[in-house]
Amino acid sequence: MMDKFVFPGPGVGYSLHNHSTFSDGSSTLEEMCRAAKNAGLTVFGMSDHWVEPAYEGTGTESWRMKHDRLDEYVETLLELKRSLDDDNFTIKIGLEVDFFFENMDDIFARLKQYPLDYLIGSVHCCGTFPVDHDASDWLPLSPEERAAVCEMYWQKLEGAAKCKEFTFLGHLDLPKKFAVIDSERYFAHAIRVLDILKTNGGALELNTSGWFKPCRSPYPSLDILKAANERNIPICINADAHHCDHVRRNFDEAAELLRKAGYDF
Ligand SMILES: [Zn+2]
Ligand SMILES: [Zn+2]
Repeated sequence: MMDKFVFPGPGVGYSLHNHSTFSDGSSTLEEMCRAAKNAGLTVFGMSDHWVEPAYEGTGTESWRMKHDRLDEYVETLLELKRSLDDDNFTIKIGLEVDFFFENMDDIFARLKQYPLDYLIGSVHCCGTFPVDHDASDWLPLSPEERAAVCEMYWQKLEGAAKCKEFTFLGHLDLPKKFAVIDSERYFAHAIRVLDILKTNGGALELNTSGWFKPCRSPYPSLDILKAANERNIPICINADAHHCDHVRRNFDEAAELLRKAGYDF
């Protein structure tokens, strides 16, 4: 396990948040890695979903990696490293891990047994509510219920920010995805998470996939990026690609946005 995230600096050919057919992606690990190499990326990390819900009813089976496939996932990536790694290209083995207050210690203990390079900390479940699954999950909720989901989301993200095992946090302001909530209302919540990251030496990603969702905005948005830069929080640009055509989607736009936020690179 990579104990300390080596900050790649934004926009320099890294891409560390990507999915394959081992979870909810539609390209194989090999297709993803070959596409990354062809796209000129220098360090490419796969991070399929690892979810061990602490309770029933999350419905995460449809998009997470099967728990008995982790060996095969790691073996396949080690094999791909042997055939594709060279002076200009390195594959990293990661996971995007769902945060649960109830059982994180058990999850980290299990994952430590594998030669993983890094872990992304993400929140997709608020109770049994699937934050980013479909707009139709949000639409029946009252304003109070939507607010309760958002409150729980940010509370869980604070918990994730405190975990030193996470190399960086995924898609910080994810609840804005379907454009059904006023994300700006939660700016102070995001600041609390950034302050924890600063204290703990944590990091962030600029996730470009939000540009292709109803919110039409990357995760996180510019105001939060500015606040992250003021706190010197390291950040890397990721596509959260679920298809091999997307491994560096909107990276130029992301680099421009980071410069606008004050990041110097
Ligand atoms: Zn995610
Ligand atoms: Zn993801």
